[in-house]
Amino acid sequence: MPAIALRCRACGSEYTDDVVGSCTDCFGPLQPVYDWDALRGTVTHDSIASGPRSIWRYAPLLPVDAPNDARLAPGLTPLLPAPRLASALGLSRLSLKLDTSNPTHSFKDRAVAVAAVKAQELGLSTLACSSTGNLANAVAARAAADGMSAAVFCPADLEPEKLVATAVYGATIYAVNGSYDQCSRLTLELMSEVPWGFVNVGLRTYYAEGSKTIAFEIAEQLDWRLPDALFCPIGSGALFSRIYEGFEQLRTLGLVSGELPRMFGAQAAGCAPVATAFETGRPVVPVRPRTLARSIAIGDPADGDLAVETAKRSGGAIVAVPEEDIGAEMGTLAENSGVFGETAAGTTVGAVRAARESGDVREDDHVVVLVSGDGLKTPEPVSRLLRPVETEPNVASVLERLPVPESV
Ligand SMILES: *Cc1c(COP(=O)(O)O)cnc(C)c1O
Ligand SMILES: [Zn+2]
Repeated sequence: MPAIALRCRACGSEYTDDVVGSCTDCFGPLQPVYDWDALRGTVTHDSIASGPRSIWRYAPLLPVDAPNDARLAPGLTPLLPAPRLASALGLSRLSLKLDTSNPTHSFKDRAVAVAAVKAQELGLSTLACSSTGNLANAVAARAAADGMSAAVFCPADLEPEKLVATAVYGATIYAVNGSYDQCSRLTLELMSEVPWGFVNVGLRTYYAEGSKTIAFEIAEQLDWRLPDALFCPIGSGALFSRIYEGFEQLRTLGLVSGELPRMFGAQAAGCAPVATAFETGRPVVPVRPRTLARSIAIGDPADGDLAVETAKRSGGAIVAVPEEDIGAEMGTLAENSGVFGETAAGTTVGAVRAARESGDVREDDHVVVLVSGDGLKTPEPVSRLLRPVETEPNVASVLERLPVPESV
């Protein structure tokens, strides 16, 4: 086993019994403990390079063993330079980490892959979750690939694209007449009633660890050099905080050196409890979400305070992006890079613009922007860009309608 124990982030109690979902002393979240001295001798640039072309190349740094028969493996998504987007945002160097290339088009496949291994180790046959959409897709697809059942709890008013992209895999969708936070509470209560592997509740320790593979990949793809700043959306705060822990772990192993990236978190103004906590310096106060960015619409974020601490520790910040900018920034991203990111990505691009304006990020900083999910699942905010030129099926009709050439 790569991880040797679980430790409570709040009180430090250690557990060897890795079945527990949270600390039995204080209900705090548990994190895996690794034997860094042993790993330093065995995990090298070369050992990683010779691994599988997926998250499982980092298996020694994950809390589960790589599956023998890794089906639909996520990870090793492209890191692409985006020079036109860089200049549009006043930067000399910007790269996009395209987690849209995962099997269900979001980073959630990483988290679920790790949690599903644990679920199978525990002998569970149903994967379950509460979801803002992308997690439901990932759980449903993972269950289909591995021959498990899937049960997902989503707000009933979610984007239809996300619900269809869950149903197609044969998952049972519970359309909950309520918010994501109510779905989340419901799964917490259901956990003691049904023998299911709730990936983001009981298996959360394992789920959260999957996200740090994004940091491992960015470093490896930059030849083990690090960017100056990383921009990432924040819902529960798990993704944001675990990516930074991933960079810290690489430094502990001596696989990277120098400054770690400053971490910049993006929230939508209509659901920004973590950005507010960052700004006020107080603990996160839950809010009622009213935002276009449904995938990050979590009013009571489990890792919100940890995300604030991460932004501070890394020298970054967390910003709230105005609702009316989200669709426009999805357009900025698409028009300047060819990448159609979802609402969370539009929010993240808005955060880059804000950080340039505030001076938090300089023109010559190398910035990496995580595109955590796919715009095809959230087309509504950019639907006004669809303005086709209607034409008869003949050349004259087309020529009449050509745009007026721009004067040079
Ligand atoms: C879930 C999700 C997030 C937020 O991740 P957290 O770990 O909840 O902070 C960001 N982007 C997309 C596309 C997501 O699906
Ligand atoms: Zn504890």
